[in-house]
Amino acid sequence: MEPDIFDSPDDLMRELFWRSSIRIAVLDSKGRIILTSKAFRDSFPEMIRVAKDNFEVLRIIDDKSYSNRLLSLPPGERFSYSTSVPLARVDSVIRIETAALHSKRQNNPLFLTEWIPGRDQEAVSRALDEIEHTYKNLQENLPVGIYRSAENGLLQTANSALIRMMGFDSFEELQNVHLKDVWVDTEQRTKMIERLRSEGSVLNYEVHLRRKTGDELIASFDARGTFDAEGRLVHFDTIVQDITQRIQAKMELERLARTDSLTGLFNRQYLMERFEEEMIRTRRYHRPMTAMLIDLDHFKAVNDIHGHLAGDAILVSAVSRITEILRESDFAGRYGGEEFCVIMPETGIEGAMELAERLRKAMEETDHILPNGSMLRITCSIGVAEASLVSVEETIALADSALYAAKRSGRNRVEKTDLVLSGCASEVE
Ligand code: GH3
Ligand code: MG
Ligand code: MG
Repeated sequence: MEPDIFDSPDDLMRELFWRSSIRIAVLDSKGRIILTSKAFRDSFPEMIRVAKDNFEVLRIIDDKSYSNRLLSLPPGERFSYSTSVPLARVDSVIRIETAALHSKRQNNPLFLTEWIPGRDQEAVSRALDEIEHTYKNLQENLPVGIYRSAENGLLQTANSALIRMMGFDSFEELQNVHLKDVWVDTEQRTKMIERLRSEGSVLNYEVHLRRKTGDELIASFDARGTFDAEGRLVHFDTIVQDITQRIQAKMELERLARTDSLTGLFNRQYLMERFEEEMIRTRRYHRPMTAMLIDLDHFKAVNDIHGHLAGDAILVSAVSRITEILRESDFAGRYGGEEFCVIMPETGIEGAMELAERLRKAMEETDHILPNGSMLRITCSIGVAEASLVSVEETIALADSALYAAKRSGRNRVEKTDLVLSGCASEVE
């Protein structure tokens, strides 16, 4: 036999009543709560609080028709009653199933009541309609795109801001476009879904989309997944912001920050950063690299004779001649006023000397057109140094001493500084 864990059958009944998962309460004829299930207490804490104060459920229900029916209910009979009670600040519709219990005490009958939080279907659907209307209105008037998509790519909803943003005329039109025609890189979508599965939501996710017209759009996605009971992704809702202009403006600022405004070359700071990066790569893979400094000859005289504007025009023209000759992998920057630095990755000293000589010759033979329409030729001197064994600063110093040597030996020349085995510069002069 099971051990008798309850002192009496009464205790057992009380325990069973308390543990019942339905919201039940026993009332006396005055509507006082005699007994409740835990579920009742959890659902209607306010009811319990009020009931404690005045012990009268009938006061809460506050409807004579309920108390009249309650009091005239013969034992064993039941009735159903729906009312709206102010619980948890909102009027909740509740159905109360009331049954009169068979009681030995005829003058003090007891009633079993089951409280079912009901929903007035019409009121509910009205409220839902209203919510949906407000939500749609909000969606339509927001300046951001909003859509819901199934995992398989089926577009379920999209607001007009999104349809406009993508350059389409209607939802149906957008819905019928293939994923690969909207996503510049469908891998971005796959990655987003993977993250939705593992993290539930994805914020500030930058994606590249294609408009109906074919031009690209950069967008920021904030997406949130909805999952079923088994944790499978059912669909996801996404807020889409067109950040194309913001990104382009940022890129333009970055470009300006690394560019010399007169010549369009990299400025000195950026050139040195790139040089450092390239140096690390060169060292790691034991690759050759060289640098050269190009300085225009007698440029002060050009300014003095033809004016500063003419000097500017020649600087621009000289740079375009230099960049024409440089290879894809070389990069150049404006190192000083009329001095340029070229970094040549994957190039040994011999190759660099050849390129430098080609540059020198091209410069010598180029006609630069001045603002007044006249033409002028100038020359340049070039210093070359190996960059693979010493630091950026040391490489520049070596190229500079080669450049100095070129100037000293008459200008319009190319010189190099060879490294001695110890890694120090050899004496140039
Ligand atoms: P060298 O052959 O020894 O290099 O003689 P140089 O006259 O070129 O040498 P120096 O360094 O004495 O003079 C460089 C001149 O370049 C001085 C300066 O007026 C001119 N310069 C520097 N930057 C600019 C610029 O942006 N525009 C113009 N028009 N001239 C510039
Ligand atoms: Mg000069
Ligand atoms: Mg100079």
